[in-house]
Amino acid sequence: MQVPLLDLKAQYATIKEEVLAAVSEVLETQWCIGGPNVEELEKQVAKISGCKYAVGASSGTDAILNTLMSLGIGVGDEVITTPFTFFATAGCIARVGAKPVFVDIDPLTYNIDPALIEPAITDKTKAILPVHLYGQMADMDPIMAIAGTYGLAVIEDACQSITSTYKKRKAGSFGTAGCFSFFPSKNLGGIGDGGMTVTNDEKLYNKMMSMRNHGMEDAYYHKSIGGNFRLDPIQAVALLVKLPHLKSWSNGRRKNAAYYTKKFANVERIVTPTISDDCVSIYNQYVIRVGNRDGLLGHLRASNIGCAVYYPVPLHLQECFADLGYREGDLPVCEQAAKDVIALPIYPELTDEMKDHVAKTVIDFLE
Ligand SMILES: *Cc1c(COP(=O)(O)O)cnc(C)c1O
Repeated sequence: MQVPLLDLKAQYATIKEEVLAAVSEVLETQWCIGGPNVEELEKQVAKISGCKYAVGASSGTDAILNTLMSLGIGVGDEVITTPFTFFATAGCIARVGAKPVFVDIDPLTYNIDPALIEPAITDKTKAILPVHLYGQMADMDPIMAIAGTYGLAVIEDACQSITSTYKKRKAGSFGTAGCFSFFPSKNLGGIGDGGMTVTNDEKLYNKMMSMRNHGMEDAYYHKSIGGNFRLDPIQAVALLVKLPHLKSWSNGRRKNAAYYTKKFANVERIVTPTISDDCVSIYNQYVIRVGNRDGLLGHLRASNIGCAVYYPVPLHLQECFADLGYREGDLPVCEQAAKDVIALPIYPELTDEMKDHVAKTVIDFLE
């Protein structure tokens, strides 16, 4: 039996006619940039996130980039973030000319450890950029408290956690702004790249709307230097077809997670995901920890079971950040996690047979 890590064809089969009709309509009208479909998606994503405003973006990366640029974060500034995330989080900080300052993670949730943020604050710190990893939100109360004390912006990287909650409030609604990705593998994935920033700050919203279009307000008059960070209507219509299914797809992932976690409950060599009592995860990934991770990875691949490591190299040890001066051993919790974690197939279309097969193959190898 083959079990891929993700099966987007299985999802597409359930919505194919609607997606084709919606895309075809965009092509018939040739309204290929901006317009009512992008606005409608922005309205709906703002609503499901509990925010007033949303600004579509060409990717999750560009959503983060536009947010940082529009907040005026740049050369000489520092942004505190986690080293255990997809590269884009810190890549965007560096691209605006600011310095990513990495602090270690919580060993159970893999999210930024709030207790380590305050000691990392300097007079150059402008923002905290927590990531809601694998579908679970970071511990937001202490993060918001520290940000309040020091007057820092908070940008939530919610790219893996759209509609995930912390104390019943949605991802993206805590900070100054929250960023989503519609990369096809995310819980709400487009048919290509896309992203969005949500915020309750009207001034930031207006700035971002201009910055995504080269900082233009009146046609061809530029007060600021922005970029082309626009979301395509083709993506917007596909996402509008998928959005009503997001809740049930995320429920399906949660059910699958519970299924695995029960199967693994008595296997000492497997550490199953810890979801805080404050959080409801959308399980963008189901990540376990094991001693012989690379052995398991090879065994699963040889058994035609999809799996992946998110992420094998902590960002503070990436070659491109060598000039930041971090050394191996500086952020030990994250470094250990990078050696132990492995993601298993969790997508909602998995059958019980598939999950049984994945669980049995994992357990057989480890025992
Ligand atoms: C996917 C992702 C991004 C970037 O999103 P893209 O749409 O691929 O640009 C940023 N941060 C995290 C944590 C992500 O998972």
